[in-house]
This record gives sequence, structure tokens and C-alpha cells, in this order.
Amino acid sequence: MTSRKAGRHFLQIPGPSAVPDRILRAISAQTIDHRGPDFAAVGKAALEGMKTIFKTDAGHVIIFPASGTGAWEAALINTLSEGDRVLMYETGHFSMLWMKMAKRLGLAPEFIEGDWRGGADPDAIAERLRADKGHEIKAVCVVHNETSTGSVSPIAEVRAAMDAVGHPALLMVDSISGLASVDFRFDEWGVDVCVSGSQKGLMLPPGISFNCVSDKAMEISRGGGMRRSYWDWQDMTGPNETGYFPYTPATNMLYGLNEAVAMLHEEGLENVFARHARHGAATRAAVRAWGLEVLCRQQGQESGVLTAVLMPEGHSADAFRATVLAHFDISLGNGLSKVADRVFRIGHLGDFNDAMLIGTLSGIEMGLSKAGIPHSTGGTAAAMKVLEENVPQHLAAE
Ligand SMILES: *Cc1c(COP(=O)(O)O)cnc(C)c1O
Repeated sequence: MTSRKAGRHFLQIPGPSAVPDRILRAISAQTIDHRGPDFAAVGKAALEGMKTIFKTDAGHVIIFPASGTGAWEAALINTLSEGDRVLMYETGHFSMLWMKMAKRLGLAPEFIEGDWRGGADPDAIAERLRADKGHEIKAVCVVHNETSTGSVSPIAEVRAAMDAVGHPALLMVDSISGLASVDFRFDEWGVDVCVSGSQKGLMLPPGISFNCVSDKAMEISRGGGMRRSYWDWQDMTGPNETGYFPYTPATNMLYGLNEAVAMLHEEGLENVFARHARHGAATRAAVRAWGLEVLCRQQGQESGVLTAVLMPEGHSADAFRATVLAHFDISLGNGLSKVADRVFRIGHLGDFNDAMLIGTLSGIEMGLSKAGIPHSTGGTAAAMKVLEENVPQHLAAE
């Protein structure tokens, strides 16, 4: 028996993702006075830096010391009033949680049911909005990257559908696991509120979350929304102008955030997105070669953040994950609610490269044998082939 595990643990769950050493070092700097003269530069850099990640000039970035769930709540209560109708789309577990939160807050969510195997359907959203002649629906809420299923919703097309029927509802997007991994364009896509978090594409530990807010949503919040105090956007925007916060911010997380934004721009956001897409494609090739099924079956909507894999009938995904963890020190994501024990999720997001992906996939392939799951060998080799045939742009010339 040994209790020591040699080498690095592979944290291949779709968030939290592995935190790069550069970020860990940045976070380890001394905490400073958040009302003192040195703090303003830290706060301003964080707020300005996040605008470049959301791709917004006009949007207002709000940073909460909370997990993503807190920022979900902030988005709803700053803009909506009790009894307001909101149109939400069932992409998977996270869309269901956001819908349940809306209910608990006294909103009246209308839920477009989905099968968890693709992103939100803009046509279905357009149809509901067209029928809402009195404009009673105040917001459309969509999850960008559905972390429970590995599907990406076409946000630009959802906006186009809203515009096509001339509906004035706010567009709210949960990009907690999409931002900084999958292309997201706040201004260009006409998003009114984007909710995000630190522990997925941003490569930070869990602990801070974001709202990016359009002028339209900010204006509504000034006189509207629900009773609130801690989550109030207006309390934030005043002090934020000079780089400060109304209450103690997560100072060390902001050090980490500034490092993360710098790293993302050093690599280039478009290269970051391409890297994730390429790893998604290689992972799907592995899954198919194993003879297993990818949960997302909408072509073009498969996520570069994670891949959810359906287990063959009669086999437990959780038992399989336990085998992979015990033998190869790789953590895989579990199936959530409706797909509990039926799928496992491979996270391929954040600070991640080809060799790490192949290490992960070979651990899974060995785990499939070890756990006696019926499959074909050669999945890892199929992924290697995809990587070899799709050389990243910055290496293509060499
Ligand atoms: C992780 C996640 C959440 C929840 O965020 P917490 O930080 O756990 O509160 C919500 N939505 C999506 C899409 C997520 O990936």
C-alpha cells in the first residue's frame, strides 16, 4: 500500500480547471489595503481586462466575490421584478438550475424543453416570442456552453431570432464555462447580461464571478429589479470607476485574474478558441473509435470545453470514473441529474495541451479495459491522428 501519488493529478473535470503555476504565484502575493492607493491599479486592470475577454467596449463589468451561482442571481434580481415572465431554454442541468432559481425568486419562467443533446434552438425561441404579442416576456435566458452535456448554443442566432420578431426582452447568457474557451462577443451579439465565473476557461480557482451588463440592462436596473443589497450593480459601478469596490473584494483572486487575462492575450484569444475546438475534435474522434457515443449530437454545436460520453447500457459511469481515478489519478466529470451515472465528462479546457489530452485519453482507454466496459481499442490513436493532421496555425509554417 502507498498513499503517495507520484506525478501530477489530472483534473479533467469541466471546471474547476487546473490552475497554471503563473496564476498560483500571482495569487500568492501579499494582500494589500483594498482602500489604499496601490489597489486602484489592480481593480482597474481587472475591470478593464475583463472587457477585452467579454469583447465589449460599452458593457459594464461587475465582479462579485461569489461562485457563478451568485452572479446568476445578480443578473436576475437587478433587472427583473416578481412575477415577470422569462423565457429559458433547457439545454441541460445548468439551464434547469437557473430556471429553478428564477422560480424561487418569484419569477415566472417559461421553459422550452430540450433533450440535452444540443444547444438552444433559435427558431423555437422566435416562435414563443412571436406569440407574446403583449411583450410580457422580459428576458430570454440561454446557457452558452452547457457544461452538463457539452453543447454550445448559437447566441448570435438567438439574438437574430429576437430581432427578427422585434421582441424587446433582455438577452441573458450564462457563459460561466464558455468564456475564454469558446468564442463569445458581448457587443457584436447584442447580449444584455452575461454571467461568468473564474474556475473554468479563466483558469483561476473558484471564488469570483462576473456580470457583463449592457447600457439597456443597466438602465432597467436603476429604477427596477427586485429588492437587493449585496448584489446591487449600482453600489458597484460608483467605486469601480476609480478601481475600488464597495466592500472587500477578493484581492488575491484579482491578482490571479490580471495574470490570466495577460496569459490569454499572450496566446491570443482566437488561438485559445482554436486550441479548445481542436482538442474537442480529437476527443470526439477517440470516443467514436472506442465505439461509444458523444452525448451532443447537433453537428457544429459540440463543445471545445468538454465532451460528455454515454456509457454502454448496463454500465455505471460513476464506477468507471472511480476506476480511472484509482488507477491513473485522473478526475473525470460525473453525469448530473437526468444523466447521472449514464455519462462521464472529459474536461479539455483551460491550461491544457496536446500531450495532456493524450495522457488523459490513454488513461480513459486503459480504464475502459480495466473496468470491463465493451469498447474497441484505438481511440487514443484516433485522437493523435486528428492532432497530427490539424497543426495549430502558429506552427503550420514550421
Ligand atoms: C459551473 C457552472 C455554473 C455554476 O457555477 P458555480 O461557480 O458552481 O456556482 C453555472 N452554469 C454553468 C454553465 C456552469 O458551467
